Amino acid sequence: MPLVNAKEMLTKAKAGQYAVGQFNINNLEWTKAILLTAQENNSPVILGVSEGAGKYMCGYKTIVGMVNGMLEELNITVPVALHLDHGSYDGAKACIEAGFSSVMFDGSHYSIEENIEKTKELVAICDELGLSLEAEVGSIGGEEDGVVGAGECADPDECKMIADLGITMLAAGIGNIHGKYPENWAGLSFDTLDAIQQKTGDMPLVLHGGTGIPADMIKKAISLGVSKINVNTECQLSFADATRKYIEDGKDLQGKGFDPRKLLAPGFEAIKATVKEKMELFGSIDKA
Ligand SMILES: [Zn+2]
Repeated sequence: MPLVNAKEMLTKAKAGQYAVGQFNINNLEWTKAILLTAQENNSPVILGVSEGAGKYMCGYKTIVGMVNGMLEELNITVPVALHLDHGSYDGAKACIEAGFSSVMFDGSHYSIEENIEKTKELVAICDELGLSLEAEVGSIGGEEDGVVGAGECADPDECKMIADLGITMLAAGIGNIHGKYPENWAGLSFDTLDAIQQKTGDMPLVLHGGTGIPADMIKKAISLGVSKINVNTECQLSFADATRKYIEDGKDLQGKGFDPRKLLAPGFEAIKATVKEKMELFGSIDKA
């Protein structure tokens, strides 16, 4: 099945009280692992690409070519969206041109007026082309491609202003952080999330920084309207752990263990396991 936008899968998720995972990709192994896991578990999935990862993978056109090729060659039939993560205005336009089916415009570092203006322009473009658009209000803590945010809580009235522009899904800061959570993390602000959902109604809400949020908090967030959860660091950690174990066990020195197809295999399997675990937790299995 060709790429789809994220609208239908997230509308269904919000109505059915589960969430679709966005798993960020870094290379061929990542992409293949996530697509195969989605297919094996009959789950919709969103492939996330940050602008940094876009550069690393030789640009958006390379990514679109790789993903479209895999959808066909791997016979992927579950809904898959290819989505720009934390895009700039220009980055969003470049991804739209390259053939992404979904983009995020992160205008959270602009004034609310400028965020609204730029988001509105992108709503018009995405509507015309049938793409989904994610917008953000309130910065999410931790590091987003070099920008360090404080993890503030979004203003529910500002969330409503952005939601009313006709976007597909809304990311709002509720105390969540990218990367590993610090020991003294205060947890998610469910009061903020509840207030945002009350103001934005059916709008699917997006939880960034899904790595390390305890399962009970994830479930509660889903019950309060979160329909898309972004996972990035957790796949990186499981890939690194599995690869380190392979090297530490000296397997690269045995026979043809140095063959990249062997050397990267444990990391590939580790990503698959992490993605499956998240799909189970988010409730998206058999929801394709
Ligand atoms: Zn994020």
